[in-house]
Amino acid sequence: MELLKQRILRDGQVKEGGVLKVDSFLNHQMDVTLLNEIGREFRRRFDGAAITKIVTIEASGIGIAAIAAQHFGSVPVIFAKKTRSRNLDGALYTAKVHSFTKDITYDVQLSKKFLGPQDTVLILDDFLARGQALLGLIDIVRQAGAQCAGCGIVIEKQQQGGGALVRAAGVRLESLAVIASLENGTVTFAQ
Ligand code: 5GP
Repeated sequence: MELLKQRILRDGQVKEGGVLKVDSFLNHQMDVTLLNEIGREFRRRFDGAAITKIVTIEASGIGIAAIAAQHFGSVPVIFAKKTRSRNLDGALYTAKVHSFTKDITYDVQLSKKFLGPQDTVLILDDFLARGQALLGLIDIVRQAGAQCAGCGIVIEKQQQGGGALVRAAGVRLESLAVIASLENGTVTFAQ
């Protein structure tokens, strides 16, 4: 997606350890006009998939998914939670996820009442690095007996291998910007 790539080149900052900071338009301050175009592009790529629910993970996936949902007939968005709270009661689907950016393992959790075998799910997230967040969400969709139509990612860092793991799990993956390298502080996109 050319608009997104240009924005990454203009405003993205390469940090230590292969991290790309895009907090001026995606991860902290959000450019909702850009997010709307991102949602439109996800719809174009998954057109005809008869999505009934969009699943994402807190926190950065929420804004992306909520805006994208409006391009899918305003289907419900469910965001998996990373911490247990009193508001999260009843039966839960859970999966373990190791966070690349924070270097911790946590349980992602989603209430069983919101997802079941009748659903066709699109999973959306901001970044794909080593694939742990997506594999956790795919696991939850499978636990629910729902159909996974695929995953939509805003920025995939191809060099960290997560895309290969998701495809090896038999899941369709659509990434709007695919980065091949962040070496020497420079963003290089895959061809
Ligand atoms: P994975 O589970 O694929 O290793 O990492 C995906 C998650 O880690 C995303 O949900 C995202 O929040 C975070 N993440 C991974 N790499 C980056 C990065 O380069 N920049 C930012 N801002 N977040 C990242």
